Amino acid sequence: MKLNIIFPKRENDWFNNAVGKLAMPVAPTYLAALTPHDVEIRITDMMAGDIVDYEEEVDLVAITVRTPVVVQAYRVADEFRSRDVSVILGGPHATVLPLEAKNHADAIVVGEAENIWNILLKDFQTNNLKDFYIGGPFSSESLPGEIYHIKERPDLHGIPRLRRDLLPRRRYLMDSIFTSRGCSYKCTFCGNPKLFGSTLRHRPIDEVVGEIETLPANYLNINDNIFGNLNDHQYYFDLYGELAKLTKKRFWFGEGALAVLGFDNGKALVKRAADSGLFRLVVGIESVHGQSITQAGAREKLGLNHGEHFNADKIQNSIKTIQDFGIEIFGFFMIGFDADSPDTLRKIIDFCHKTKIIPMITILSPTPDSPLYEKFKSEGRLLSDLSWNQYVSPELIFKHPSMTGKEMQRIRDEILNDLYRLIPIAKRVISTISKRPHPIVFFSSLFTQLGIRQGVKKEQTV
Ligand code: SF4
Repeated sequence: MKLNIIFPKRENDWFNNAVGKLAMPVAPTYLAALTPHDVEIRITDMMAGDIVDYEEEVDLVAITVRTPVVVQAYRVADEFRSRDVSVILGGPHATVLPLEAKNHADAIVVGEAENIWNILLKDFQTNNLKDFYIGGPFSSESLPGEIYHIKERPDLHGIPRLRRDLLPRRRYLMDSIFTSRGCSYKCTFCGNPKLFGSTLRHRPIDEVVGEIETLPANYLNINDNIFGNLNDHQYYFDLYGELAKLTKKRFWFGEGALAVLGFDNGKALVKRAADSGLFRLVVGIESVHGQSITQAGAREKLGLNHGEHFNADKIQNSIKTIQDFGIEIFGFFMIGFDADSPDTLRKIIDFCHKTKIIPMITILSPTPDSPLYEKFKSEGRLLSDLSWNQYVSPELIFKHPSMTGKEMQRIRDEILNDLYRLIPIAKRVISTISKRPHPIVFFSSLFTQLGIRQGVKKEQTV
């Protein structure tokens, strides 16, 4: 049997498409790893530039569907089905909207694939394909047709290593790995806790270390949060301790929350992560406006205690503490919360200049399974006649109390134009290498920022 696993991309999305070339993707290489060895597999990574070959002989196509690429994913699926090739759709968007996805596929994978993928493949090979395969505690009530459902979330012990051999290594700057799944924070614009659960599940440390030892290069850790949470962070402390002992040191980066500094051994955990090679931390700061941070549900992950007023100094100090360990901070902000106004512009610019973080500004676009999306929907604030293609910055998908989408785009452009002038870039690079003088850190910081500068300019001339 021949299987083509497709990782779609969205046209004209310079940021995500640049990320696609940065690190080898996990979703298709992991699905390939779960597939029995007697299946012939090809991975088509459109994010990295692969073109779908509709002429190639193939028995089954599997496509990962995320909201920003869903229009392209459906287009590819429809084309294969018009040629009598069966298509399976899975991923976050198919999990949230399985009925919509079913219009474009023979079967849908809802939730996590580990416990159901091989059953699905066997059913396909014996002409017994069901309509929906559900992995995890997702409702099947409204789903018509035949359903196979395993309600437990998969255990991450003994899982196979990613099939990195199926993609040309030289195309990517970094490898990717994951160590845990789930997120206990409650950002209102994000659907990940619903998708992967709010309790963290971890891979055994020896299995992670063994896999990292096989990597030829530096890597991206794709966990939602590389430090865990207040009550579950010992795993990371132990893991980074083991990684720090490796003779071949690799640099790595991942996403984490400033709340780590409020954990029992929080600073020691950050130091261990730095010693194990962490050189860049992606942090969702979301806003510098107290009300906006509250609406984002981001207080806890920023380390603001219950009832504590928003305190920009505290956040700046947390950032500095982490930077002093030689970790560069890549800070994400969103504009579009109800309290945001043109004044938000100046505050974000000042904050970024002061903290020397690498900034990325997007316009708030809650995912379709997030609490904020549900709220906007129930309040009738979602704009009508939108295509899923518009569910990605810099489009505005809902009615804002005081600003139009165009105004927000103008604000975002102004912020990015100011922050990505050459002088602020140079200052940030100098600040980073003064704390971690290493060529990889230098070139990574410089080229990342020049790449963003170029992407921003390109986007503004379209
Ligand atoms: S955005 Fe918030 S809720 Fe979503 S994965 Fe990140 S920390 Fe968790």
